[in-house]
Amino acid sequence: MKPWKMKWEDMDCKQILQVVNVAFYGGFLVLMLALLLLYVSEEISVLLAVLAVLGGVSCFGGVLLAYTRLRCPFCGASLMLGGRIPTHIPNFCPECGKPL
Ligand SMILES: [Zn+2]
Repeated sequence: MKPWKMKWEDMDCKQILQVVNVAFYGGFLVLMLALLLLYVSEEISVLLAVLAVLGGVSCFGGVLLAYTRLRCPFCGASLMLGGRIPTHIPNFCPECGKPL
């Protein structure tokens, strides 16, 4: 199956975390780079502004995705670490103790 044809329902939490990480850190990087270039450039560049917005949206989407989809498939407990995106999925659910 091609990755872009996968449904969220078919993905396990490790795959969702990968998507979250790419969206969040990729978006964050684009946002920061665009803001930096906007800061040093003399005039406002529409392209950079659009890039900054896209980066921000991607970053925000990553967090949103983590909140909504990064959950234990058994009990639905959130796998976020105190509101932060986890660096890895724990081997066992912190709520129900089932292997993830
Ligand atoms: Zn659980």
